[in-house]
Amino acid sequence: MYNQDKKLFQIICKDCIDTFEIVVEGISKVHTCRSLGQIRIIMNNDKDFDAQIRPTADENLFFVDINEGVISRIYDLVNSNKEHISPAILDKNNCDPFQSITESPYLLDTVYDLSLQFIFHHEISHYLCGHLEYNEHTNSLLPRARSLKESTIGFYYNKKDVSDESIIRSHYLELEADATSIEWLLDRVVLGCVNREISISLGINEDDDYLKNKSISELPSGSRLLAFRYLLLSVWIVIILIEANRNKKYSEDKKFHPLPSARLHGVLSTMLLWYSNIDEININQSGEMIVSPGEKHRNNMVEFLQLIVKPVARNVINFSDEYSIKGLVSPIEVERSVDGLVEFMREFSRICQRQQPVTNGGKQLERIENIRSEITGILKSVRFFEEML
Ligand SMILES: [Zn+2]
Repeated sequence: MYNQDKKLFQIICKDCIDTFEIVVEGISKVHTCRSLGQIRIIMNNDKDFDAQIRPTADENLFFVDINEGVISRIYDLVNSNKEHISPAILDKNNCDPFQSITESPYLLDTVYDLSLQFIFHHEISHYLCGHLEYNEHTNSLLPRARSLKESTIGFYYNKKDVSDESIIRSHYLELEADATSIEWLLDRVVLGCVNREISISLGINEDDDYLKNKSISELPSGSRLLAFRYLLLSVWIVIILIEANRNKKYSEDKKFHPLPSARLHGVLSTMLLWYSNIDEININQSGEMIVSPGEKHRNNMVEFLQLIVKPVARNVINFSDEYSIKGLVSPIEVERSVDGLVEFMREFSRICQRQQPVTNGGKQLERIENIRSEITGILKSVRFFEEML
């Protein structure tokens, strides 16, 4: 659909570059303990859903490669699943602020734009978190060969030499880049597109300054809820597309567990912490993250599951077969997506209550979390931000 329209293609490519520049400009404004250097976008004529960040011969210049397949596949997914995307965002069940909201003109644009922003922030987060240096350190790679390509994470060189531990470490880097990207989007970046959409949805004048300079976490309750749904849905869409592509490569070697459900658990955990305003987080010696929610936090956590995750998940499982999440949400074999989703949510609830995981995805997340202190110890000196855990 998208590939047949050359003019549309050009407009969307131009928009993509503009969005990238806005993201880089936003990041440049924040104080970092190392010099950020220059980060440029390179668009590749490749239909695979793939992206990477890589160093260049100039040590102050980095490239983010984005395949055209990233843009076209997000665009096609969003447009071919309109009937599920709209209710995921505007679900009115038990949501008083949304009772008056009808169809919104920028809804699909907003999801598309946020999905792209998530990928850009994810790639740049690999750089800001020191993951390029980490690869150089742990895999004895030459500096020029330390790029992080999404489809082949973990397969750095000869596959026979790749241990299970090295795969878990590369999964850790993915989950950390996701969490950092989400934090950027929630807290540090003013989302013009989302705020415009929310202004319209809530009947506030589009030109009103009320929401213009607010990030998601600063929004008042009704619009904040809407913004969290936008963000979760957009991130979920990217994970579906990126992991479907990666699964093709993993399936050649059954030894490696797929990442998707652990990755989704990680995304939900990060958003849950932010939604519930839980700021007391401690990391124990084995690297486990200890969260101590109070009564108010617990109510917020239930609200997050009911009002954010439920409407989004319920609609994501109805995406057309081409984008089926069967096998992406739950690595266990299930007949129907909905069974996989129920299993996934039960496991997420166990994770929140710090109970033993029972699914492969939950166990994988536990293994990834257990190497947190080892990896963060190595990364400490190469982080761009001091406060990173
Ligand atoms: Zn990545």
